[in-house]
Amino acid sequence: MERRATANTDVSGLVAGEKLTTWAAGSESSVVAVIRTTLGPLLLVLFTPPAAIIFWIVCTFEPFNGALSPLLTTAGWRAVAAHWPWPSVTAAAIVLVFATLQAILLYVLPGKTFEGPVTPTGHRPRYTLNGVPAWFVTHALFFGCAFGLHLFKPGIVWDHFGEILAMLVLFALVFCLFLYFKGRYWPTSEDRSLSGNFIWDYWWGVELHPTLFGVNLKQLINCRFSMMGWSLIVCAFAAKQAELDPSGHISNAMLISVAITVIYLFKFFWWESGYFTSLDIMHDRFGYYICWGVMAWVPAVYALTAQYLVLRPHHLPWPLAIAIFALGVGAIAVNYSADAQRLRVRATNGNTSVWGRPPDLIRAHYVTADGKRRESLLLASGWWGIARHFHYVPEITLALLWSLPAGFTHFVPYFYVFFLTILLVDRATRDDRRCRKKYGAYWDEYCRRVPWKILPGIY
Ligand code: NDP
Repeated sequence: MERRATANTDVSGLVAGEKLTTWAAGSESSVVAVIRTTLGPLLLVLFTPPAAIIFWIVCTFEPFNGALSPLLTTAGWRAVAAHWPWPSVTAAAIVLVFATLQAILLYVLPGKTFEGPVTPTGHRPRYTLNGVPAWFVTHALFFGCAFGLHLFKPGIVWDHFGEILAMLVLFALVFCLFLYFKGRYWPTSEDRSLSGNFIWDYWWGVELHPTLFGVNLKQLINCRFSMMGWSLIVCAFAAKQAELDPSGHISNAMLISVAITVIYLFKFFWWESGYFTSLDIMHDRFGYYICWGVMAWVPAVYALTAQYLVLRPHHLPWPLAIAIFALGVGAIAVNYSADAQRLRVRATNGNTSVWGRPPDLIRAHYVTADGKRRESLLLASGWWGIARHFHYVPEITLALLWSLPAGFTHFVPYFYVFFLTILLVDRATRDDRRCRKKYGAYWDEYCRRVPWKILPGIY
């Protein structure tokens, strides 16, 4: 369980003499604690793996045809059982080749070294910034081998997607167990926490920055395996739709949805250093929540709209398609601009302008476990002056925009937007808790200046 401190003797949030290995949590009743640390995680570990597979069945087979309602019938559950996928040799080969390629690219492609933010124990993890060349090489290799060398059809990903998901779901479950034992007995650093509650430790993870053979697992798995895989999967789904079409066309609904997704993911690699200052990396331990999530839930759920569209091609009026695309790109730009503003202000120590004015700043102090007093800048103007997590608004908007081309007949293509909204509302709360713990009175001052969490006037 996260270490808890209820009394602040210092603006950093550290109780005198306390050695923190995490910036999180506050006091809560024992019932809430049991739900948060045991029941909730247990239910999620039990239900998310089958859900990941069921979405694929719903998108692919009768009697679902994209609808969830047959799950309320016996025939629906019979169909689920009949189509339940299992890992196959082909699926294992696809996943293995992809994972190995990503590890090699991460290792061999040139890129600047980036030092991540200081951890609660005072360390700075290092990353190689070569995501953009890795993105180009990965996509060129996939489509070059498919269209140039005819080694396989790009639809291979769709054809084996059920088996691939089954493999990822099971492998990631076991891998998270490995991470638990690694964190417990062979930790990479002191940035770890063990509660003694196995369910919580498995769910939340033990280590903050585990490495294996010198490779930073969060960068390899979150960025290169998961986000790169997501980009390749939606492209392969679009190619599959063309394979199924007698004249080899991709519908403009698929085109728009995949284009917005791919631009968003390319932006992710462009901005990869920013990701290393996000909660996933700075705060979340590497357990089921993050590791299983990025390995299995991302391919199963984040690519759902494109997956749904493969078998349901339809054409949108071009003006509508172009409007959705333009709004999608606009939402990506706002999200990027907000992330970039915060990073630029810190990188320049505040010597920059935000929306044409000197930034409104709070110089916040905090203390790490090695006793060092450090300083961070909190930006209270620009996007960060509208709300404390305003950048989640364009994040949700763009997900809605890449779902809209699927039309309104079914809920499944919108499931990701629904899930993301819950995830980000929870995240805003968790981040507030973490920052209050880390910055104490400085964070309270920021909340006074910028009172809304996500959307002014609403939340
Ligand atoms: P944020 O970008 O919200 O960063 C949070 C951290 O930034 C805080 O912990 C704090 O860290 C620092 N910070 C907070 N307020 C300020 C401020 N006013 N000025 C300067 N620094 C501040 O992290 P997220 O991980 O939530 O989001 C990163 C990106 O990833 C976003 O674009 C988000 O939309 C996207 N995202 C996408 C998800 C998806 O599933 N599609 C899920 C989650 C995020 P410090 O300790 O350094 O002070």
